[in-house]
Amino acid sequence: MAAISQLIKSAIRPACRALSSKASPHAAEGASLGPTFALSDEQREIVDMTKKFVREEIIPVAAHHDKTGEYPWAIVKKAWELGLMNNHIPADIGGTDMSIVTSCLIAEELAYGCTGIMTALEGSGLGQTPVILAGNAEQKKKYLGRLLEEPLVAAYCVTEPGAGSDVNGVKTRAEKKGDEWILNGQKMWITNGGVANWYFVLARTNPDPKCPASKAFTGFIVERETPGLTPGRKEQNMGQRASDTRGITFEDVRVPKENVLIGEGAGFKVAMGTFDKTRPPVAAGAVGLAQRCLDEALKYALERKTFGVPIAAHQAISFMLADMAIGVETARLITMKSAWEVDQGRRNSYYAAIAKCYAADMANRVASDAVQVFGGNGFNTDYPVEKLMRDAKIYQIYEGTSQIQRLIISRSMIDSAKGKSL
Ligand SMILES: Cc1cc2nc3c(=O)[nH]c(=O)nc-3n(C[C@H](O)[C@H](O)[C@H](O)COP(=O)(O)OP(=O)(O)OC[C@H]3O[C@@H](n4cnc5c(N)ncnc54)[C@H](O)[C@@H]3O)c2cc1C
Repeated sequence: MAAISQLIKSAIRPACRALSSKASPHAAEGASLGPTFALSDEQREIVDMTKKFVREEIIPVAAHHDKTGEYPWAIVKKAWELGLMNNHIPADIGGTDMSIVTSCLIAEELAYGCTGIMTALEGSGLGQTPVILAGNAEQKKKYLGRLLEEPLVAAYCVTEPGAGSDVNGVKTRAEKKGDEWILNGQKMWITNGGVANWYFVLARTNPDPKCPASKAFTGFIVERETPGLTPGRKEQNMGQRASDTRGITFEDVRVPKENVLIGEGAGFKVAMGTFDKTRPPVAAGAVGLAQRCLDEALKYALERKTFGVPIAAHQAISFMLADMAIGVETARLITMKSAWEVDQGRRNSYYAAIAKCYAADMANRVASDAVQVFGGNGFNTDYPVEKLMRDAKIYQIYEGTSQIQRLIISRSMIDSAKGKSL
């Protein structure tokens, strides 16, 4: 943890402490990204350190992990030592309590190196966020503290074989028996599913199908080593193959009542509220991937010659590069805006959905264009862009599909218009 926590302690935290108690603790840090778009000295140092880490530790092994699907434990350990993981754990239990803006800067750099490895690192943040948002003091100390003591990872278990976008369809059930809850069911597509030390699990606790989602589900912290909890095989995905994605079966898994987040019936809000904090870094990941596509395509376009000139001299290619740059720059702006909003202590679901949707769609367009710039070579594993195109697709699917983001955006607009007309 040394490197980042020193930076945060030396400058960012004192700046936060100087704020009035009403303001968000991240307002000062985020304010530097206001009209000037300037990074603070500390943010610049964090970005430089992350870039170096990505260049030296991630880029050289990215193709290996893509080919083998091997989980990048060595990188997780090094990232943990540098303080590039567990960024949002509160300061009172030893974390750096970093702003979402700063964590997006890190996410973009990590994704530039390999989004599969970045997802392995970020997936733990997704698992931790419900505990950060809703955990009591003991839960935070025990489960978040554990992640600070050792390079371990967490996971977020909501999706099931029959319920992804429609979270209300979650069938995993939990029944109270004495001082314990008994969990039975099946989760699917869980990032870090086979390597996590503990899981956030959403289960139905009210069997009445008429019970509203806001009351029907409960969130639990579940230890990996609990009898009856069995991760399935590692899924063979199209891209981001370094990341460990699995189904998980729960058969009479006994969870102590102390591991309920907030209380019975509060799970849906906790599970969905998590995305306000985690979607901006996911969008930043898509931006990092797209920036890598652009850099690779520009380099190649200057080297490759056809008809006696570098292909960059053909307007069809240079305009494609210009469109890629337009996409990367605009996605970065809305991503940072969505991060900044939540750092100000405001609800950012609308901006986070726009950022996630726009950055994901943009990354897919840019990755496809990068393959096009490379011609036949772009279709081949000896060149970097086919991996980028495979890796890009998942951004339109996980943490809410692009269709679901549009649903959130349109509902938010309609609700606000109705509110105004009242
Ligand atoms: C690699 C990977 C990692 C993942 N990691 C995690 C994780 O760590 N934890 C976790 O809980 N989940 C995880 N997921 C699950 C992911 O969030 C879901 O796959 C996603 O939410 C979509 O759900 P689904 O697959 O059930 O598709 P469905 O919900 O069945 O959707 C199928 C299609 O229908 C569209 N659709 C559905 N409903 C609507 C609607 N109302 N309007 C318009 N279109 C609609 C969708 O956009 C999609 O195109 C992961 C998935 C993958 C593939």
